[in-house]
Amino acid sequence: MCGIVGIVDAGGVSIQLYYALYALQHRGQESAGISTFDGTNLHKFKGNGLVADVFSPSVLSDLHGTAGIGHVRYPTTGANLPENIQPLNFQFKEHFISLAHNGNLVNTCEIRAEYEQAGQIFTTTTDTEVIAKILMDEIGRSGCVEDAVRICMRRLLGSYSVVMMFDGIIYAFRDPLGIKPFCIGKTENGYMVASESVAVDALSAKFLRDVKPGELIRIDSEGIRCTQVAVAGKRAHCIFEYIYFARADAIIDGVLVYDVRRQIGHKLFEEDPVRADSVCSVPDSGTAYAIGYAEGSGIPFVESLMKNRYMGRTFIMPTQKEREKAVRIKLNPIPAHLKNKSVVLVDDSIVRGTTSKRIIEMMREAGAREVHMRIGSPAIKAPCYLGVDMPTREELIASDKIEDEVRHSITATTLHHISLDALVEAIGFEREDLCTGCLTGCYPLPIDGEQARPCKVDFLDSTFQSRLGSFEA
Ligand code: AMP
Repeated sequence: MCGIVGIVDAGGVSIQLYYALYALQHRGQESAGISTFDGTNLHKFKGNGLVADVFSPSVLSDLHGTAGIGHVRYPTTGANLPENIQPLNFQFKEHFISLAHNGNLVNTCEIRAEYEQAGQIFTTTTDTEVIAKILMDEIGRSGCVEDAVRICMRRLLGSYSVVMMFDGIIYAFRDPLGIKPFCIGKTENGYMVASESVAVDALSAKFLRDVKPGELIRIDSEGIRCTQVAVAGKRAHCIFEYIYFARADAIIDGVLVYDVRRQIGHKLFEEDPVRADSVCSVPDSGTAYAIGYAEGSGIPFVESLMKNRYMGRTFIMPTQKEREKAVRIKLNPIPAHLKNKSVVLVDDSIVRGTTSKRIIEMMREAGAREVHMRIGSPAIKAPCYLGVDMPTREELIASDKIEDEVRHSITATTLHHISLDALVEAIGFEREDLCTGCLTGCYPLPIDGEQARPCKVDFLDSTFQSRLGSFEA
């Protein structure tokens, strides 16, 4: 769970990178960083906190250059240490390299041990540095960045959308299963890649298309080119991007996230109708679902929980107690909308159950008579190894409970999770083309101790296809 962006634009990139990261802020609030290249030197700035706190106008004005990359971080692999803040920057054989990654590798330890065995050192605990090591090793050997990416992709197992700046040329590649989102846009005087289309929109750039699974994109001042490095027998787009993680206005792999959530709202009513006075969402993550539920049921949508917009996502709080307290500061019930009412409360997911339990308590204290909880995802049964920050099985409330036990534990009047079939239908891909690991415990890649249904990946020896300036959309 991170957001990445890379831009080459003759008009300068620092402000554009800043706004793109701003648009991707929901993908990571722990730290932010930007690196730019001015033709001779690398300029970089990164720090802990939100994009608006890390960068000031004077910092941005020092980030010179017409190429740059940026990153917002939500930690998955690697602790919350200053050295883990991305982009990671390197100087190698007089080349300036900067690298940022969204995703999570599952063979980091193996590769890292191999390098350490050979006497190499690491300065971070991230899997991103493992990617950098492989790339530098191969660039050192062959001198060819494209070949290095090919070899690197053969070695990596896991989810990765990567943006690398090499002396001002941007290379962007996406894992063969396309687990994490990645898209391409046309800026006024150049091109960009970003985790979500909302970053392209924020720059008033033109959305071109998604980076294909297994594809390598190269952007320089002359234009953009692409080549297919790997082809897999299926895709495995992260289903949780559609459920929770991506912004509702993002279009991911051709699908508008808002529409998926709204349709699920309709299906939640069809699957388990209930009579109630109003439909209320847990803002903001439950809102599109709740609107769909209200449309499908004809029950009015009434905002009964007000969100303090200046708070980050409550998951950030490290302890359970702090998280519980944070819910009250983040959401305030409106007693006038709840007193003696039967309410359908709609949210995207239940993970630990902390949030739902606390919200239901608050709604009852505010006078709600019945709280019918409806959830836009199936029960979350298993951890995510591929980039979403999910707790262990022990912490997941549904990992060892049936729905009625969860209902009892969160004190809802009734509880219904959307079925996996309905969710898959709303997204519109074949079930085999989605990673449903957190819902089914079966993953698209081999993971120690877990069930998996991996597929064959072929690596190709093609070269960059599109001619300069004639990039197909
Ligand atoms: P809880 O059941 O208390 O653990 O939290 C569930 C709430 O957290 C839901 O309302 C989701 O919107 C949100 N949520 C789900 N997954 C994540 C995640 N990986 N990181 C942050 N928030 C999440």
